[in-house]
Amino acid sequence: MCFICDRIEMIKNGENPYFVKELRTGYAVIGDNQHFYGYTLLLYKNHKYTELYQMNMDERLEFMKEMTIVAQAAANAFGCDKMNYELLGMGEAHLHWHLYPRRSGDIGDYGNHGIGPVWWYPMEKMYADDNRPSNAELEQMKEKLRVEIAKLL
Ligand SMILES: [Zn+2]
Repeated sequence: MCFICDRIEMIKNGENPYFVKELRTGYAVIGDNQHFYGYTLLLYKNHKYTELYQMNMDERLEFMKEMTIVAQAAANAFGCDKMNYELLGMGEAHLHWHLYPRRSGDIGDYGNHGIGPVWWYPMEKMYADDNRPSNAELEQMKEKLRVEIAKLL
């Protein structure tokens, strides 16, 4: 089973502590690691497709629309200079958007003198245990994001 499907199964069972909101095409969740504070994902509901262009146009547009709603809500909830959007799928082909609120200086001196995509920040730092939110922080983040999503729906 894929990692994203596992996380969705946890949502359905009420056991995913990162779950924020169910939308029509996907589930909004807070990222496990928060070096990029407010890092949020939108997980497509099923494992049916590996590419956006495999969806019919209505589904594709709905998924894109909901992604931008969650992105806007994350920007409103957590603040950022710029939102970054990624749909990669080389780890798990299950469609999922990574939404990274970016701020000046957030990759230190890495990248091109501190400028560049999130993946120019070292993986071991990005996924370090010390940037996992505490339970209290996570609850606060979920509530903030839930409120902002609701305003946009
Ligand atoms: Zn899957």
